[in-house]
Amino acid sequence: MTTHTHPQAAAAGSAPAAHEASTAPAASGAISAARAEGLPVVQAQGGLSAAWTERYSSALMNTFGTPKRVFVRGEGAQLWDADGRRYLDLFAGIAVNALGHAHPLIVNAVTAQLTTLGHVGNFFGTAPQIALAERLLALAALPGSGPAAEQGPAGGPDLGSGRVYFANSGTEANEAAFKLTRLTGRTKVIATEGGFHGRTMGALALTGKPAIREAFEPLPAGVEFVPFGDAAALENAVDDQTAAVFLEPIQGERGVLPAPPGYLKAAREITARHGALLVLDEVQTGIGRTGDWFAFQHAGIRPDVVTLAKGLGGGLPIGACLAFGRAAELFTPGSHGSTFAGNPVACAAGLAVLHAIERDGLIERAGEVGDLLRQGIEELDHPAVAGVRGEGLLLAIVLRRAAAAEVADAALDAGFIVNAVNPESIRLAPPLILTTDQAREFLGALPKLLDHALDEAGRS
Ligand SMILES: *Cc1c(COP(=O)(O)O)cnc(C)c1O
Repeated sequence: MTTHTHPQAAAAGSAPAAHEASTAPAASGAISAARAEGLPVVQAQGGLSAAWTERYSSALMNTFGTPKRVFVRGEGAQLWDADGRRYLDLFAGIAVNALGHAHPLIVNAVTAQLTTLGHVGNFFGTAPQIALAERLLALAALPGSGPAAEQGPAGGPDLGSGRVYFANSGTEANEAAFKLTRLTGRTKVIATEGGFHGRTMGALALTGKPAIREAFEPLPAGVEFVPFGDAAALENAVDDQTAAVFLEPIQGERGVLPAPPGYLKAAREITARHGALLVLDEVQTGIGRTGDWFAFQHAGIRPDVVTLAKGLGGGLPIGACLAFGRAAELFTPGSHGSTFAGNPVACAAGLAVLHAIERDGLIERAGEVGDLLRQGIEELDHPAVAGVRGEGLLLAIVLRRAAAAEVADAALDAGFIVNAVNPESIRLAPPLILTTDQAREFLGALPKLLDHALDEAGRS
C-alpha cells in the first residue's frame, strides 16, 4: 500500500491525513443528524490525542493503564487516531473485529435491526437471536478441514442435538458454561495452567494465572489445574467425580500457545470415559480465526460445550455458550439469565459476520493470509525471532529476548497495531478481511521493528 501515511508526516501537520480522520463519508449523514440534536459527536480535529488521553485518565478507572492512542475512526483494516495518523490494524480490538472496521454489512444489519426492534428482554423472543442460534448450531456440526478432522470426529455427542445460551461477553459465556457443569451433580472441574477464561469470579476461578486471581480469592471452589498440553496429567486428574474439563484449543492470552497434536482428542476420550463434559473455550479461536469455523473442527473432535464471543459480533458485544447432547438440557427456566443477552441488535451483527465470512470465503482467507504471514516472518530469518506459533490469523512472533513491548511500541510509532501478549511474544490477530497486500506491507516493515528486540551486540 503506497498511501500509508507515515505518522511523523501526519504529526507534522499533514492536512489531508487529519481531514481523512475527521470524515467517514458513509457516516456524514448520521453525524450531522446527531449534531443537529445537540448530541456529542466526537471526531478528530488533529493534534487532540494528548488532550483526550488526559481526560481519559481523569475519568476512567485505571484498569488498562494510560492508552497509547485514542482512536476516532476505522475503515477495513485501518484505524485513525485523534491526531489524524493512520494505522494498519493487526490486532482487531483483541481478535474481535473479524470484518475490520465499519464493514457495510454490519453497519446495514445493525441499522436495519435498530430501526426495527432494538431490545425486548428475555421474556420474549426475537427473530435475529433464533436465526443466529440456528446458524451457530449448523456451523458447529460441519466437519472440519484439518488433517485430524479427515479421520472423522472422535467421541462426543451428536451435534445436531445442540442448544445455545447467549451472553454479552466471553467471560459471561464461560460463567454460563461453568454454572451448567454444576447441574451435572458433580462439582469437580479441571482447568489448565496458563489458561484464560475471563475476569468475572467464576471465569476467574477457571483461569490458571495466579497473578490475576489471587487478589480476588476466595473464588468458587472445586477447580483443579493441570499443565496444558499434557494428556497424561489430564488422565490422572479426571475421574468419575469430574463434572467438566475446561480447555482452550490455543491458549491465546498466554502467548498463542496451541495444544499439541492429539491433545484435544485425548481430552475428548478421557472426559467421555468418565462421563465428564468437555468444555472448549473458543472465545478467541472461534468463528473462523484459525482457518475453520471452530478450532475443534481442525482437531476432528466433538466437544459437549463451546463458548464464543470475541469474533462473533464483529465489534458488538455478544457471547454464546453452545451445548450438545445431555449438556444442552441442563439449564431449565430460572437456572440462568441476563437482561441484555441475545439482544437482537447484537445478534443481527452476528448474523452479518457469519454471512460475510461465508460469502467472502474468509475462513479460507484466514488460512491463506495466516500462512503468508507465518512464512513471511520465518523467511525473514531475523536474529531476534525464535519462531512463530499459532494457527490461521491467530499468530505469535516468539522473540529470543523479553522485548515484545519495545517491538509493539516501535510498531505503533510506525503505524502498525500489534500486541505484546507477554514479554517474549508479539500477538497478531488481524481482521479476517486483511488482504495479502496489507500482510506484505507489515512484513516489509517488520525487520526494522524486530531490530528493537536485538540485544546491544546484535544492534550495533
Ligand atoms: C478474551 C477471552 C475471554 C474473556 O472474554 P471477555 O469478552 O473479555 O470477557 C475468555 N476466554 C478466552 C479464551 C479469551 O480469549
